[in-house]
Amino acid sequence: MSYVDEVMEKVKKRDGDQPEFIQAVTEVLNSLRPVIEKDEEKYRKMAILERITEPDRQIMFRVPWVDDNGQVQVNRGFRVQFNNAIGPYKGGLRLHPSVNLGIIKFLGFEQVFKNSLTTLPIGGGKGGSDFDPKGKSDREIMAFCQSFMTELCKYIGADVDVPAGDIGTGAREIGFMFGQYKRIRGMYEGVLTGKGLSYGGSLARTEATGYGLLYLTEEMVKCHGDKMEGKVIAVSGAGNVATYAIQKAQQLGAKVVTCSDSTGWIYDEDGIDVALLKEVKEVKRARLTEYAAARPSAKYFEKKDGEHGVWQYKVDIALPCATQNELDIEDAKMLVANGVKYVAEGANMPTTLDATEYFQKNNVPFVCGKASNAGGVATSALEMSQNSERLSWSFEEVDSKLKGIMVGIYHNIDDAAKEYGMEGNYVAGANIAGFKKVVDAMIAQGVC
Ligand code: NDP
Repeated sequence: MSYVDEVMEKVKKRDGDQPEFIQAVTEVLNSLRPVIEKDEEKYRKMAILERITEPDRQIMFRVPWVDDNGQVQVNRGFRVQFNNAIGPYKGGLRLHPSVNLGIIKFLGFEQVFKNSLTTLPIGGGKGGSDFDPKGKSDREIMAFCQSFMTELCKYIGADVDVPAGDIGTGAREIGFMFGQYKRIRGMYEGVLTGKGLSYGGSLARTEATGYGLLYLTEEMVKCHGDKMEGKVIAVSGAGNVATYAIQKAQQLGAKVVTCSDSTGWIYDEDGIDVALLKEVKEVKRARLTEYAAARPSAKYFEKKDGEHGVWQYKVDIALPCATQNELDIEDAKMLVANGVKYVAEGANMPTTLDATEYFQKNNVPFVCGKASNAGGVATSALEMSQNSERLSWSFEEVDSKLKGIMVGIYHNIDDAAKEYGMEGNYVAGANIAGFKKVVDAMIAQGVC
């Protein structure tokens, strides 16, 4: 049995109850075959694949807090510190009822490669809780965040582990968590990113993941002899990533006709009105029905099982920006039948493995999230640099660094795919390029 298959078997046996983690490991290890097979005995002897698929540590803890009725609630908190070979652990905190250890592990594993691709000195980690922020008062959110940080603060630090936002964790939650860290630890340091501008946040961090996704997509489109101007785009999600992806796509001359949330989706033939979307989602924290009510060109559809949602329309580019496994094989077939030309992931692992393969078989250039959504964590690392320097850079400075990083990532993954005879396979390119740097560092640091 090949070394890759051996390790895949071990992971399936050990973590068989974590489907998302198995899915992520399968995708990565399969695409690393050409690299591993070149020097199989060396990697086997050093147990590189066993080490890279086992987190440095997994922390799970109780998060008790009191709701507005005086009732004590208990959630489960997680922090998985996956790999710090190239820098302090870095990765977001997800607050969503679906959160469990397997989901946090898959996200942490992906983060190792993504962070390596940014070329910045950051290792990979991820955390969160099964707490549902929806419908909670500001006081309840604060109570949860303070309790969560009371425990988490023992394991993080500016040079140890620097968490950030993710689904359900935005500027409000980061603010409450930072306040509690400062209070308990008695120190003011850049321990979290995604902070408010008045206390160490970076300009352009809010926009970074969505903007970065479009910078990379634009470069890919250009390198295929094409242009963004006039392209019709389907975006899913209506959160941080989706909103700023839509905004940048429009600035580049494209028209985005869809967005979605967990209950339904919008088709807006005139193109999504970003100011209205922000008002509905960021200010009112309301459903997309309110968007449709305020915009005559928009239609709202309730989400139903087995429907294609935002993926049923005739578009040139598809950008899944909501959550994992939201674009399946049937959606991929529909997009291809409708002539989709490019797909780039804004969310983490939004495309199922068979859907990814379907795009690749049909020669649709497809970029996986660990490359195309790396702009968020890259800008978080720029926030860490500014905090260390005690300086703040201008929006233009951060944005131009972000653009340089995303264009660089595209060429890096394109070159890595070519080097191993898989031209145009950006998934393999991303995994190989990300892996090589981390493994070089792991080997140099000995058995640890
Ligand atoms: P937000 O919480 O801001 O938005 C998430 C969006 O996805 C919301 O519109 C939400 O709908 C929708 N959504 C969440 N869960 C589901 C579900 N189960 N089914 C359908 N829709 C769902 O999160 P972000 O925009 O920050 O994150 C989106 C994705 O991008 C995630 O995969 C995240 O890990 C990834 N990512 C985020 C980065 C960042 O900088 N924020 C960086 C890199 C990756 P609703 O409003 O109804 O909850």
